[in-house]
Amino acid sequence: MDFQAILEEITATLQAELRAHGPRGEVAQYIPALARVPAGHIGMALRTCDGQEAVAGDGALPFSIQSISKVFTLTLAMQHLSEEQLWSRIGREPSGTAFNSLVQLEFEHGTPRNPFINAGAIAVADRLVGLYGDAACAQLSAFLSDLSGEPIGYDEEVAASEAATGFRNQALANFMKSFGRVDHAVDTVLDLYFHQCALSMSCLQLARAAAYLSRDGAHPVRPGAHIMTERQTRRINSLMLTCGTYDAAGEFAYRIGLPCKSGVGGGILAVVPDHLTLVVWSPALDETGNSVLGQKALELFTRRTGLSIF
Ligand code: GLN
Repeated sequence: MDFQAILEEITATLQAELRAHGPRGEVAQYIPALARVPAGHIGMALRTCDGQEAVAGDGALPFSIQSISKVFTLTLAMQHLSEEQLWSRIGREPSGTAFNSLVQLEFEHGTPRNPFINAGAIAVADRLVGLYGDAACAQLSAFLSDLSGEPIGYDEEVAASEAATGFRNQALANFMKSFGRVDHAVDTVLDLYFHQCALSMSCLQLARAAAYLSRDGAHPVRPGAHIMTERQTRRINSLMLTCGTYDAAGEFAYRIGLPCKSGVGGGILAVVPDHLTLVVWSPALDETGNSVLGQKALELFTRRTGLSIF
């Protein structure tokens, strides 16, 4: 398949739609650094299992990856912790509620429903602070730099704003701490969580970094090296399908049929196991916090190529 032509065709279709109707949805407003990103960006990039790449529109522009980072922190935690150490405190069920919801935590005694909602990612961050201490942020950016083959860093303005406005995340962390579900100091755990949200990457860098998810855990570029086992990779993909897009996971499975992880920066990472990783970015979001045109781009891609896990 000529993926370059397909991505160009899809971005052109969506750019025309934007010109005709203007952006639908709204760019995230809770911090200035996200609120000022123009809604008109559309980027796409993919990397196939054998290293072929395609990039279209704004696919090489860095953006705030936000909750897409939850895939990479979970990967690091799964690499180093036993099943019991990791999953004794985090569930694996879809939440059916907003990504920053507090409501289920009380019923479930401080145990988050899954690692891809905020509470679950904060619980994963707590595990990583246990593994790496003060070096956790440096370890995470080094991991992503190794995966994508170029230096990946934090947007410190975004990280500082996340911290200054993160009252709900503070509440989630403190609430879990009150149930004994967070071991380390809340401030230290949240510093890692706010930084992971502030990782700045392009669609192409993300498609490269996540390539192990389409290659049964094999390192994106280093021959013979493995990020995780085939079984662990399958599990991350399953969690992405059922929990990666919050309370829209059913709609994503119906419309797109691929494991996906979204973020409020407007990015969506999608995996076609044994084929490719595809990343789309367009900043305007629907009410579930998922990119409106990003979803449309993925839907057009699966329709055009017939690639789906079903
Ligand atoms: N920084 C956002 C938060 O913590 C990330 C949420 C998201 O991307 N869905 O709420």
